[in-house]
Amino acid sequence: MPTYILRDLDAGPWTRFKERAHKDGWPLRPLFLQLMADYADGKLTLSKGPGPRPLAGFSVLTCKNLACPAGGQPQQVTTRKDEVPAILKAKGVTCPACRTLIPLEAQELEHLESWFHTSDPNPGEFGG
Ligand SMILES: [Zn+2]
Repeated sequence: MPTYILRDLDAGPWTRFKERAHKDGWPLRPLFLQLMADYADGKLTLSKGPGPRPLAGFSVLTCKNLACPAGGQPQQVTTRKDEVPAILKAKGVTCPACRTLIPLEAQELEHLESWFHTSDPNPGEFGG
């Protein structure tokens, strides 16, 4: 089961979300799962369109270099959009711990290329 981490949440909506969940008797995990299922099934109508795409991408990757200080453990690798052309050319990202190339699957490379060609939000909109 994948893990998804939400960072830098606005305190206002997050507090209101938790207060409503508490009032309605929903523990947060089952609430998120129900929201995901209802959204996926088209049962939810959102009040506005898609939000801006993030300015940086995050991947959890495992370096295969046996001498890597990361010791073969999965690590989060941050990718800036301006790094994408070099990543596509190399077909992988550089390990933050040992600078060895970590090859990416074809699908991951396609996602990066798609993200690269998607326009950025205005800086002030990010996280809004
Ligand atoms: Zn490494």
